[in-house]
Amino acid sequence: MKNLFVLAFLILSHSVFSQDSKSISQERPKLVIGIVVDQMRQEYFYRYQDRFVEGGFKRLMNEGFMMKNGHYNYIPTYTGPGHASVYTGTTPATHGIIGNDWYVRSLGRTIYCAEDSTVSGVAGSPSGGEISPRNLLSSTITDELMFATGKRSKVVGVAIKDRGAALPAGHLGDAYWYDAKTGEFMTSTYYYDELPDWAKAFNARKLPEKYLSETWETLFPLESYVQGAPDNNDFESPFIGMETPTFPYDLAALKENNGGLGLISTTPYGNTLTLDLAYAALEGEQLGKRGETDFLAVSFSSTDYIGHRFGPSSVEVEDNYLRLDRGLADFFDHLDKEIGEGEYLVFLTADHGVADVVRYMQSERVAAGSLDTRFVLTQLRGFTNQHFGEGNWILNYSNEQVFLNRSLAEEKGLSFGELQKAVADFMLRFDGIKETYTGEDLRRLEYTKGRKSLLQMGFNHKASGDVMVILEPAWLSNSVRGTTHGTGYTYDTHVPIVFYGWGIKPGSSSRYATITDIAPTLSMLLHTRLPNGASGQPIGEVLDVE
Ligand SMILES: [Zn+2]
Repeated sequence: MKNLFVLAFLILSHSVFSQDSKSISQERPKLVIGIVVDQMRQEYFYRYQDRFVEGGFKRLMNEGFMMKNGHYNYIPTYTGPGHASVYTGTTPATHGIIGNDWYVRSLGRTIYCAEDSTVSGVAGSPSGGEISPRNLLSSTITDELMFATGKRSKVVGVAIKDRGAALPAGHLGDAYWYDAKTGEFMTSTYYYDELPDWAKAFNARKLPEKYLSETWETLFPLESYVQGAPDNNDFESPFIGMETPTFPYDLAALKENNGGLGLISTTPYGNTLTLDLAYAALEGEQLGKRGETDFLAVSFSSTDYIGHRFGPSSVEVEDNYLRLDRGLADFFDHLDKEIGEGEYLVFLTADHGVADVVRYMQSERVAAGSLDTRFVLTQLRGFTNQHFGEGNWILNYSNEQVFLNRSLAEEKGLSFGELQKAVADFMLRFDGIKETYTGEDLRRLEYTKGRKSLLQMGFNHKASGDVMVILEPAWLSNSVRGTTHGTGYTYDTHVPIVFYGWGIKPGSSSRYATITDIAPTLSMLLHTRLPNGASGQPIGEVLDVE
């Protein structure tokens, strides 16, 4: 009797548990939209808010869950590492994308983060096509979604920049990026031997030609842009053929001397074009309508091109965000209609923030400066020749990392660690260089806090340099006009992290969170494995709000 009772209990509990787990594992949104805005600071949400429409960024802010204190947790903060880190839930130390480009000792040359000489271009021009995610050493959340559904999901990545499409789409998804020479969106043989029909039809519309026949004028009267510097100033880089960096921009006239069809990247139309392609991919692949969870990864590259040229206090950046906001509002409306409100999950983040233009900071009497790296390198070569004998001691200086000649040190019977240390110490003499760290220290010691730990999270034992250089806050290398990013300071690390839609209740938190937490949060929402190198943690506030 007792055994029977136990047996009955087992049968009952088994059926209850299996039913339960079945219903949970099948509970997923119809579609996930991953949005990375290239070079977006968190503060833009607030700075431009007055003129945002209700349905764009404000929809995410008011109806989504926002981590207001979200940061990059490694150095260097560039586009390749940024996209890789968001989608893998880990940092360059693990996923291996340590820069947009980096020097490879064994090859004696610099490689590009998404380069792959074993594949070739499909559509576009041949030079734009040797692209794949093969340098990415860990799985992405998009890969894990594919594994979780027996590859019945579809994953599509779209962006102007190839790395903005290929890294988010992961190893199992499809990716499409813009070819500046032909004005086509293209892919590579890693994905397809031929473009799908919907992408061919999209290219046949020749939208870049149409957009580049227009004039970029401000959405509102120019004098109403009061959030930053005046339109005409010495901080921004004018387009070639223009005396001043000022509205209006006659794109047809500028096209010839400013990259031809590539000019679209540095206008708001680059984002419009990216959204156009997103609509075409949704329709062409029937994303979110196939009874399985699909994933569309969109990266807006034009915010970065415009941001570099004009800086975060420019009218151009503000106008571009006002336009992107309206584009997003239309996009979400479209998704409401096609997929259903609450049936799709959105997250939005950025791949990095940006520094202010050095001259602008100086004009406001904030400490800032520009490091002349050619001067530093000349001095460094003189120093190493003098102390260790004539030779090619410095192989490469890039991404604020020095690569030293290990075999020359061995030849001369010099300890490589001593060479690293001598170079690190020497470099501290220059104004603008705040700290230096040796590769040996980063390999041997464990840093848990502050800048050292950010540096270590971006340090790959096999691929990174021998001496890492940290500049003073607000300093940039070789900066005249315009600006850049790459540091571990807050202007580069503090970015949006917001979730909206399926399974997300409205709210916000000021707790510190990192962009490596995004993919683990998605794993919990989508009931997939964590990406295989994930080091971030699911964001409890997003998942567990009542
Ligand atoms: Zn950039």
